[in-house]
Amino acid sequence: CGIVGVLGTHEVAPTLVEALRRLEYRGYDSAGIATVNEGRLDRRRAVGKLVNLSDLLVHEPLAGKSGIGHTRWATHGAPSEVNAHPHKAGPVAVVHNGIIENYKNLRAELQEMGAAFETQTDTETVALLTQYYMAEGLDRIAAAEKTLSRLEGAFALVFLFDGEEDMLFAARKGSPLAIGHGDGEAYVGSDAIALAPMTDRITYLEEGDRAVVTRARIEIRDAEGRLVNREARTVSIDA
Ligand code: GLU
Repeated sequence: CGIVGVLGTHEVAPTLVEALRRLEYRGYDSAGIATVNEGRLDRRRAVGKLVNLSDLLVHEPLAGKSGIGHTRWATHGAPSEVNAHPHKAGPVAVVHNGIIENYKNLRAELQEMGAAFETQTDTETVALLTQYYMAEGLDRIAAAEKTLSRLEGAFALVFLFDGEEDMLFAARKGSPLAIGHGDGEAYVGSDAIALAPMTDRITYLEEGDRAVVTRARIEIRDAEGRLVNREARTVSIDA
């Protein structure tokens, strides 16, 4: 339902939770965040209000300067901690808005290849497919791209990778996604409201776009894979 991603210069967990708070108005049944800290991808998730997630983070903190977060409005799989995003498979974590329409076929295909599912969500297929393509030898971005080429439906996705503290991969197909520009930081959000405390410099992805986001550079390609220049604009939202 709500997505945020931050490549920060400080500890990012509080920033992620604050951004998710700004997305509460959309409604949600659970929430979670993932970070990469000293190369290691880890996550925390909780059912119910965001305060449950922040309470959990008090007892089990999550360090790291890069991360992703999600508020979930369940479409496939009951609201539960296991079904909450970020979904993780080996070296990849993913947050997702929308629906993967062909997830049943993908699930069957992955199961045939020996993949073990932990959740009932459509989203987990995205993480597992990316893990599979990486295990086949593709690099992170190529694996995520190949995964995208397999997906049907309307969605926004943001990927975070183990061992990579300076890259988020984001894709928009039918669900909005905005990139935020900061001073030595970069952000991704399902809308500019989530990013308002961090930045008012926003680039909206267009339909079919995907972005390789690093702190220093944002590289956007269109649905045909061509490098494109999407303008950054200043949006005014009360932070
Ligand atoms: N279809 C996904 C799920 O049920 C994402 C729902 C959402 O947009 O929050 O987990």
